[in-house]
Order: sequence, then C-alpha cells, then structure tokens
Amino acid sequence: SLSVEGLEQAVKWDASGLVPAIVQDAGSKDVLMLAYMNRESLRKSVETGLTWFWSRSRAELWNKGATSGNTQRITALKYDCDGDTLLVEVIANGPACHTGEPTCFYRTAAEAEIAAASTGLNGGAEDRFKVLAELEQLIAERYAERPEGAYTTYLFEKGLDKILKKVGEETAESIIAAKNGDNDELRYEVSDLIYHLLVLLRERNLPLDDIMQELERRHERPRRD
Ligand code: AMP
Ligand code: ZN
Ligand code: ZN
Repeated sequence: SLSVEGLEQAVKWDASGLVPAIVQDAGSKDVLMLAYMNRESLRKSVETGLTWFWSRSRAELWNKGATSGNTQRITALKYDCDGDTLLVEVIANGPACHTGEPTCFYRTAAEAEIAAASTGLNGGAEDRFKVLAELEQLIAERYAERPEGAYTTYLFEKGLDKILKKVGEETAESIIAAKNGDNDELRYEVSDLIYHLLVLLRERNLPLDDIMQELERRHERPRRD
C-alpha cells in the first residue's frame, strides 16, 4: 500500500494540525464535499482506502459513512501546488451530504440572496440563533481539551448520569419559574436548560444540526394527527 510519510511531510498542516480535503467523484468529477483531515485521519484513509476526517464540530475522528453507510472508496489522493489542500478522488457508495443530496454543493449564491432577504423580514432571527452553534462549538472544545476548573469539564468527567440529572433539575426549575409567572427567572432557567441539553447532545455524540434538520422536516410536512 501507499506510504503515508511523504504525503504527511508534503502537507502544510494548519495551526490546529488540520488540512482541508476536497472530495471529488472519480467518475463524474463532481465536487462532493469539503472536510478536514488531521494526521491520524490521513493515515487511516491511506490504510483503509476509505475517507476518514477530523470533525471540528464533534472534535473526533470521523469515518465518512460509518452511520449512514454512504462510505467513499479512495481511488486517488492528490495535494495542491503549495500543499495546503488535499484532493481525494472517490467512488461514493451513496450521497456525500448528510442532507441526502449527492453533493454538498447544491446551494447557489442566488439562493443565499433569497435567504438573506427573508432573514431581513424576520428581524435577523437567524443571526441570534448563531449563538447556539457557537455554544455547541465551545462545548466540543471543552469535551476535547478538558481544561481544569471549567464547569463543562466537570460535567463530562462525571458522565452521562450527572448530565441527565442536571437536565432534569433545570427542567423542573423552568417549570417552577413559569408557574411563578416570573419571566426573568424563566429566561435564566431555560438558558441553563438549553446549555445542559447541548452538553447532553455532545456527550451522546448527536450534532445540533441533526436536531435542526429534524425540526425542519417537521416544519415542511406538518403532522395531520
Ligand atoms: P455519515 O458519516 O454519513 O455516517 O454521517 C454521520 C454524521 O456526520 C452526520 O449525521 C452528519 O452530522 C455528519 N456528516 C455526514 N456527511 C457530512 C458532510 N458531507 N458534511 C458535513 N457533515 C457530514
Ligand atoms: Zn494551495
Ligand atoms: Zn453536506
């Protein structure tokens, strides 16, 4: 099999030890997706002939298709002129995108313009929700790095049962606040609840994006019961 040492040295790893990898369909030459590799995922990709990446949001090695079955068999591995990008040619066993689209690049600039216009209509609500994604990212960093003294580190060290207990407590406190008719208290308790739910999602390895997609699906096809 291919030796990975030369490639590892040719690659210009960024400050986080990552390199972007463009995945291309070997037959059609369609660009399928972009993801990041670290040294270990590059090694695993070469060893197994399947695509392995580093998930920045989940802070873990990720074998593309491990849960969906949509794996990618590598037919060629290239790097660009200055070594800061990989190109991975693959034969895909199914859609590359977790939305079910064959390629992640199914959205156009024209569509983004429409989305931006509708954001304007509902008062920039999407921008406000960005804080959720940022919080998810911060929690993923705490999960990976476990900085001493951080409350989030404490929760992950204690484990699932402790996190579930906190979710229960914050739920009860939110109920009490609502019953008290005290919206200052309710805002505070619901914020605590959402934070602990995000910690739970991280612990159980379920991306917030999957929740967003589930909500989106329900929104598109309202239940009739
Ligand atoms: P899979 O690797 O296809 O088994 O999917 C597992 C999870 O990885 C999904 O739930 C997504 O969160 C994520 N994922 C899969 N494919 C992509 C992609 N093309 N881009 C970003 N995230 C992805
Ligand atoms: Zn380059
Ligand atoms: Zn995608």
